[in-house]
Order: sequence, then structure tokens, then C-alpha cells
Amino acid sequence: MRNASRAARREGKRLGFVPTMGALHEGHLSLVRAARAACGIVAASIFVNPTQFGPNEDLAKYPRSFERDRKLLEEEGVELLFAPPVEEMYPAGAVTWVTVEELSGKLDGRSRPGHLRGVTTIVSKLFHVVEPDVAFFGQKDAAQVAIIRHMVRDLKFPVEIVVCPIVREADGLAMSSRNAYLDPEQRRQALVLHRTLMLVKELVDRGERRAATLVAAAREEFTREPAVRLDYFEIVDAGSLDPVEDVSSGALVAVAAYVGTTRLIDNVVLPCNSRAQS
Ligand code: AMP
Repeated sequence: MRNASRAARREGKRLGFVPTMGALHEGHLSLVRAARAACGIVAASIFVNPTQFGPNEDLAKYPRSFERDRKLLEEEGVELLFAPPVEEMYPAGAVTWVTVEELSGKLDGRSRPGHLRGVTTIVSKLFHVVEPDVAFFGQKDAAQVAIIRHMVRDLKFPVEIVVCPIVREADGLAMSSRNAYLDPEQRRQALVLHRTLMLVKELVDRGERRAATLVAAAREEFTREPAVRLDYFEIVDAGSLDPVEDVSSGALVAVAAYVGTTRLIDNVVLPCNSRAQS
């Protein structure tokens, strides 16, 4: 992978990189298309990273569809595909981690201990192997975006980070490889995540600025879908992931919830200076 990447860059091509865990959907492909539009050569990786899964999570049953994914990436014009075996990324005895202190314990990092450490460690390893000029991530994983930006800054990775918008199903559900776990009833129940985010946005458009009031309204909306168990609903600063009291300077509204045993996340970014309607 590194030889191929270096050869392309020697030819003066800008290398764009899209890391994924496979089971590709339109969300992933939107990142590939953004990379394709901005870069002379595009690399993608497919690696179900064991260290970002907790002991009781879905590592074993995580959907895997390598041949289908490979074809999709080929159709999008991806030149380089990196799909290493686990032992290559984590050689026996590997004990070195990349931890972004503080941030790694917020949002998903708080609910899923070790998850964000797994993410920053594998993204570091992938950056070292692929040596991209630009890497593309989805806004869907907002905590991941914040922590990777911070890591790149702290460790001086020579990589530009580009964040692409959340791609949704027609009814608003954020696309996710984990949506495949949902039965039709759960698929319907899962809409409460997006519905609640839209409710918060609407309240902000109507002039509400207090995060506590917005969170209370969101929690109330969740009670209407009792089969869905809320993990967190938070309004935070998108960079530090710390809660904000007032959304006037912009904020990240982030939600995670269990539909059955499937954990789904979603978010919306409130822009700075969103003003009350006159
Ligand atoms: P994953 O395979 O879940 O690790 O995701 C790989 C990349 O695709 C990450 O940067 C995700 O944020 C991004 N991604 C996943 N779902 C979506 C979506 N619905 N819209 C945009 N990006 C997404």
C-alpha cells in the first residue's frame, strides 16, 4: 500500500483517502466521490477495527461484504484499496495506543469506553501506511471527527481533514451499516432520532437558545417511542465536545440511542448566530 501510495505521489498526484469498515452504502460513497472530485488518486480502506468495539458489542456480527464493496469502489474509480488482515494492523504483542485525552471520554467515548482510543489508534496506523494528502470523514460520526481533527493537530500529521455531510434515507434516517440489523418495526422506530433533531432545529429557528430547554424537549419526544432507549442527547461545542448552555454561537446536537440491541447515532450542527425569527 505504501509503495503504491508513494509511487502515485511521486507523479505529483494528490492522494485522497477514505477509511471505512466496509458494508458500504451511499454515505461511504459520498466520501469517495468527494475524494474523487478533489484528488488525482483515491485510496479507500476496508478494515473492521477490533479495538474500537467493546467486549459486548457487535464485532463478530458486524456486516461484511468484501466482494460487493470492492466492486462498488471500483465503479467509483477508486485506484487503491487497502484491506489488511487484523494481524497486520495489530501484530502480536502490539501495545501502543494513540489516546486523545479528555475528548476520548466524551459522547460516544463515554458510552463506549475504549471506542475512541480504538478509532484514533487505527486512523494513525492507516495514515502512516497510506500517507494521504487528504482524508475524508463523515459528519455522521461527529465525535470521531472532533477527535481526529484534534489528533492531527496535536501529532502534526501532514494530512488535511475534510468532513462531508450526513447522507440520509428518503425519510431522514442517517445511513449506517448497522441499519441492516433493524427489522421493519425497528426501522420505523429508529426515525425518532432524526425527528427529535429536527424538532430541536425547529425550536431554535423559532428563537429558543437555552440548551437545557432544547434537551428537555428532545427527551420528551423520545418518551413517545418507548421501545427506543436513549443513550445520550447532548448539545455541545463541536470542537471540544463540552456541553454548551446557549446555542447562539453554534453547537453540535448529538444523539445516540438503542433500537432493540442496535445502537444508532445521529446529529445536526446548529450554525453560529442562528437568530430568532423577527
Ligand atoms: P464506517 O464504515 O462506519 O467506519 O464509516 C466510514 C466513514 O463513512 C466514516 O467517516 C463515517 O463517518 C462515514 N459515514 C458513515 N455513514 C455516513 C453517512 N450516513 N453519511 C456520511 N458519512 C457517513
